[in-house]
Amino acid sequence: MSELTKFQCPYCNSPLEINPEDKIFNCVSCGQAILSDGSKFENHYILENTISQKQVHDIVKNFIRKKGYLRGIRGYKITQVTPILTPFWCVTTDAYTHFVGYLRYSETKTRTVGTGKNRRTVTEHVTVYRPVDNEINEKRVDVLLGRRGSSIYGYDKVKNLLRSQFSNAVPFNYDRLAGAEKEFDYLSSEISLDAANQLGKTIVFDDHRSRAEKACTKVFDCATQISYTGTYFVHAPVWQIEYIFKDETYRIAILGSTGSVILGEIPVTTRFRVIFLTLSILFLGGGGAVSYFFSDQVAVPIIAGIVAAVIGFFTLKNTFKPMSVHGG
Ligand SMILES: [Zn+2]
Repeated sequence: MSELTKFQCPYCNSPLEINPEDKIFNCVSCGQAILSDGSKFENHYILENTISQKQVHDIVKNFIRKKGYLRGIRGYKITQVTPILTPFWCVTTDAYTHFVGYLRYSETKTRTVGTGKNRRTVTEHVTVYRPVDNEINEKRVDVLLGRRGSSIYGYDKVKNLLRSQFSNAVPFNYDRLAGAEKEFDYLSSEISLDAANQLGKTIVFDDHRSRAEKACTKVFDCATQISYTGTYFVHAPVWQIEYIFKDETYRIAILGSTGSVILGEIPVTTRFRVIFLTLSILFLGGGGAVSYFFSDQVAVPIIAGIVAAVIGFFTLKNTFKPMSVHGG
């Protein structure tokens, strides 16, 4: 961690402490987003928080009751509730890609051969090569976290949510920061505007390339052009919750603009372990039984053994690991 530098907000003159790693500073007094040269950054938006601490507790309760249904979770305790205004970059672009290649696939054809009594139908497999010449043309929103570390639980899911909820963002306004979002940690961005644009471009290029590769057996040529249609600095309200259950700590992240659980960890209880262990044993036993009855065929016991081992392995893995559960 680097040292903080004293700084004065050019808009409201409040003293600020700035982390030199931050590329965009947020003045906690007036809310202004300020570029490192001191100029105002205008495209600053926020998804407004709509839930209270009290509602957060209810959302957690419902989540644990619903997702922990089989596990019998009683007596958990919320130990920490941290609301964070998390900084994201939303890079909007018009993106165009032209790609050329070929697609190889096999086709089954039937035809009739011979005459009279010898007339019969034959089936043939033919390999077909079809040229592909196609375009991708779209308006995009690509979202990046404005922090280099990823200590914010669930931020990756928020990125996806923001892509669809971006249109609900409103211009940042200081009155909210003093009121509805007062208790939130207000984080600055460590990623500069230029870096965000560069990273956004890389995401578009990679995505179009992989879509071209999916559409072709082989891509000969793939050329992408983008034009930026606006890069926005967006703060999203993310509630970070920690709760303890039988001395272990678990995390839940809630999006404050919708009140929905982004991601959450549910403890693995003894009851849950018993259910899964029973299932594993049934599968292993089933594998053995199948092998016994088909013992004259060599392949069957091997396949049954592999299937049982794979299923057994994943159930065992689940049995001893806390599970991350998607919200919804
Ligand atoms: Zn200020």
